[in-house]
Amino acid sequence: MKLTVAVLSLAVSCFWCHARAATPADALLIHGGRIMTMDPALGDIDNGEILIRAGRIVAVGRNLAAGDARRIDARGQIVLPGFVDAHTHLYVTTMRGQFRNGAGQFFPVSSRLAAVMTPDDTYAAMHLGAVELLYGGVTTTGDFFDNVLTPRHGEAGLRALQDAGIRAVLYYGGPDKTTKQPIDLAQLRELAGGQANDARVRIGLAWRLPRDRTDAANWAMRQQEYDAARSLGLPIQVHVSGEAGPMFDALIERKYLYPGLTVVHATDAAPAQLQALERAGGSLALTPVSEHRVGYGLTRIDQFAAVRRQGLGLDGNALAGSADMFATLRLAALTWSGATRDERLPDPRALLDKATRGGAEALGLAAETGTLTPGKRADLQIVALDALNLAGFGGGDPAALLVYSARPDNVRTVLVDGRIVKRDGRLEGVDLPGLLDNSARSAGEVARRAAP
Ligand SMILES: [Zn+2]
Repeated sequence: MKLTVAVLSLAVSCFWCHARAATPADALLIHGGRIMTMDPALGDIDNGEILIRAGRIVAVGRNLAAGDARRIDARGQIVLPGFVDAHTHLYVTTMRGQFRNGAGQFFPVSSRLAAVMTPDDTYAAMHLGAVELLYGGVTTTGDFFDNVLTPRHGEAGLRALQDAGIRAVLYYGGPDKTTKQPIDLAQLRELAGGQANDARVRIGLAWRLPRDRTDAANWAMRQQEYDAARSLGLPIQVHVSGEAGPMFDALIERKYLYPGLTVVHATDAAPAQLQALERAGGSLALTPVSEHRVGYGLTRIDQFAAVRRQGLGLDGNALAGSADMFATLRLAALTWSGATRDERLPDPRALLDKATRGGAEALGLAAETGTLTPGKRADLQIVALDALNLAGFGGGDPAALLVYSARPDNVRTVLVDGRIVKRDGRLEGVDLPGLLDNSARSAGEVARRAAP
């Protein structure tokens, strides 16, 4: 294993950081762990340290001058960036167990349940989903919120993510999964206008395209939504799924591709379409577990190499089964080696890169998160190795261990923005029995209300 030792410190320049850095209690030192920075220039640091001040990573290396910083002992553990879930739908979290194939397929069932969700149900589902993500080491999510039934639902969704403490882009969408209804552009403008430059939860547009290329009225409506997002400087995620070839072509022909656009799924994209996306500077999000589950085909990560900015997502904790990015990595790796009939592929570190740095780049958040680089916000996870499923690790590549063996329970500590949200295996500041009770109650009420 190549070992890179790097000691960097950063003169933090923003006013807010100077002001906060004066408070010693804000400083935190993580020490003694195997640090996987996922920053190509820094590499891994054995027995390394990370110094955090006012929520920001200020130094990574060894023997750092930490003064009276609070300490987190990471000896015998792996420290890596928090995962970035590049695309999901958190409002379906309380639909777990409802999709049982046969007559209970995801699209009709989730649409029926989603239509009767109140703002409180929306909050319950999205808050639960975000907390579950944090528990499993996911510190950033790109939430495609395509169930904004009323402005109160919109507010509830935003508040759920803010309260959970996760970093997110909340892609604000329409009232259902069809493209028949317009997105509430007045509320989109209001939410986008109200966000601070350094907000932990940002606003984007959750955009869907008409399947009928000749439906001029619908295309005009979609054009208005696109123009509104672009004029507000918002990122856009667009679902390109199912029989998606013509939809991807429409994105290209109508000149919708730009660096702020993330194309989601597109499992059957043609090489020329991916090249067009790359030329335009756009990004890609793939969600292997859900794409397999709903029959989009095998997610062959090896076939998307043309697009540089590329992340992995869950596409809904309930659709993926649970918020398990390790399982997502494992499925992506096994599909790759199985489909190519090549045991030498893939490099597990390349997959881990997509679940961290790649996802941050896809969401346009690479300046803040995705690697453990001085200057970025302190979003990280610490994986403990004293577990039956990780025991027996004698010092090989920790990336292989994480991709093929780890699971959310192994994540002992999680920080977002320098704030500890999981410590010693327990969520901080979360009334877990209350959260579970409330989620079960809401899920039951939604199911009863939606009963045929
Ligand atoms: Zn999706």
